[in-house]
Amino acid sequence: MDELPYKTILCDVLVVGAGGAGCRAAIEASRLNLDVIMLSKELIGKAHTSMAEGGYNVSLGNVDPDDNPETHFKDTIVGGNYLNNQELAEILVNDASERVFDLEEMGALFDRTPEGKIAQRTFGKQSWRRTAYASDRTGSEIMITLVEGIRKESVRVFDEIFATRLLVQDGRIAGVTAIDLKYGDYLVFRAQAVVMATGGAGRIFTVTSNAQLDVGDGYAMAFEAGCDIIDMEMIQFHPTGMVAPESAKGRLVTEAVRGEGGILLNNKGERFMNNYYPEVMELAGRDQVARSIMTEVLAGRGSPDGGVYLSISHLPKRIVEFRLESMIEQFGDAGVDIRDAPMQVSPTAHHFMGGLKTDTNAQTTIPGLYAAGECTGGIHGGNRLGGNALLDTQVFGAIAGGNAARFAKEHERPGVDRKEIQKEFNRLEAMLKRKEGISPAVARKELTDLMWSKVQIFRKEEEIAYAVKELKRIEKEVVPNIKVDVPIKRFNPGWHQAIEFGHMVITARMVAEGAFMRKGSRGAHYRVDADPDDDGYYNIVIRRGSKGEMKLQKEDLVITKIPPP
Ligand SMILES: Cc1cc2nc3c(=O)[nH]c(=O)nc-3n(C[C@H](O)[C@H](O)[C@H](O)COP(=O)(O)OP(=O)(O)OC[C@H]3O[C@@H](n4cnc5c(N)ncnc54)[C@H](O)[C@@H]3O)c2cc1C
Repeated sequence: MDELPYKTILCDVLVVGAGGAGCRAAIEASRLNLDVIMLSKELIGKAHTSMAEGGYNVSLGNVDPDDNPETHFKDTIVGGNYLNNQELAEILVNDASERVFDLEEMGALFDRTPEGKIAQRTFGKQSWRRTAYASDRTGSEIMITLVEGIRKESVRVFDEIFATRLLVQDGRIAGVTAIDLKYGDYLVFRAQAVVMATGGAGRIFTVTSNAQLDVGDGYAMAFEAGCDIIDMEMIQFHPTGMVAPESAKGRLVTEAVRGEGGILLNNKGERFMNNYYPEVMELAGRDQVARSIMTEVLAGRGSPDGGVYLSISHLPKRIVEFRLESMIEQFGDAGVDIRDAPMQVSPTAHHFMGGLKTDTNAQTTIPGLYAAGECTGGIHGGNRLGGNALLDTQVFGAIAGGNAARFAKEHERPGVDRKEIQKEFNRLEAMLKRKEGISPAVARKELTDLMWSKVQIFRKEEEIAYAVKELKRIEKEVVPNIKVDVPIKRFNPGWHQAIEFGHMVITARMVAEGAFMRKGSRGAHYRVDADPDDDGYYNIVIRRGSKGEMKLQKEDLVITKIPPP
């Protein structure tokens, strides 16, 4: 093993991730007067959160006065197919209004009602108009605000830094190893407490609405460090992604289109949701709408490019222009004017409901390691309601940041194991030095196609079993033989992709193993060959065994108010 040089950077609280959850956590920790560092793979402000479109759920009752947190809670649990951790869901709905007012205080501008209150729109599976929004650019508004907030605090921002491994010392979190993407330098960040806010992993599927960097680093690093991970099989396939042109495939068509009155049609011009969920039509749960669309396509009633039609042309043009501005642009680029013509849409991998298991303090199962945002699991159960993810980033971002800071105040910074660190940097260096091997681009394509074809919306035992077998082979044969084409360290996307690939494989395997274990259909996990005896309600927890193996275990749900039917 070569002795590779690296730089050590110390702080009290380290936040890995600079999306909605990471920024909110860093702001909260910094307000408690600690030395806070926030890392991100991309430039600050560019995290995936900025792509969020439709809005943020909060039961203010500004438009529908009867709405309240109790109803929001019920919708969240029913929408989540009762798999949600109800303690966490209660916090989510109860803290929603305080956190939206924080955003307003920091400068966020939400659309208003004629009386000047925050406007609220309809989203699927919700009893009232509850989703606060800034046109269809809500995530961007929130990120601009949070970045301003970060600048006003004394948070030290390290962007274009890739954390590769969590360091654990005597059972406590101690920091992370990382590379500087610009210069290729090896870095070690050490802290008393770490907040994971690394977002989701849509990129393990060929067709996804997610940003390029959403590959699941956080899930994989946490698993490797021994953290419990929950319900990874629960992947939300958003019903409406673009299908054409090929370069835009998977790009999100916000639920706000259906919320504002958009209707789904098949190639016979039939409003087919009437055959599946006539009471709620297009505003059924995302899992339900996605399956209905796929059924139409598989039955030969799809559009020319393999989707169905989503039409909003019956609405007044000024409403479309005011509330769905970026959709007009998005489809305009593809040569479709949505004010007059229908969009073609089909499902796209969108959101991970599973992730790091956390308690009501946003504490994971590793002392000192906190987590918030999409990288966590349990809050949304088997299916997340549109608008509850941005909310999640703010509510649990604040909780994670505050508790990480309190933990950091009460504990010394742990030491780190130099041998472990050298082992990790040697592993990364080997990808550059290997003379022969497999290109990361080829390996990633094989992996994403495997997941898209075998662990998608309609799942079958034999296909999932095949995916698990293949993923184990990839882990054994491909991951150790990844070779970067150009062996340089300075900004080298090939190297970054190669490092990400190892994380993608671990994340994909957790998804497939969870899907294999859950024999019945529940929420977003739909088994076409569902076992009628497996109709129980449970969570699946994944934990690393002493030899590095994946151990899966069913666990009882956390229920506070609403038992499953
Ligand atoms: C197109 C689209 C539209 C959406 N619209 C809505 C909506 O209207 N309402 C709603 O509620 N939800 C919406 N969602 C979901 C919501 O946007 C996300 O769940 C949420 O923004 C995730 O925020 P986050 O802070 O957890 O993660 P992200 O915003 O994904 O941030 C993750 C951060 O972690 C960093 N990171 C990851 N790995 C590493 C690493 N190894 N080292 C260093 N840094 C790392 C990344 O660089 C990034 O800074 C939408 C999602 C998509 C894809």
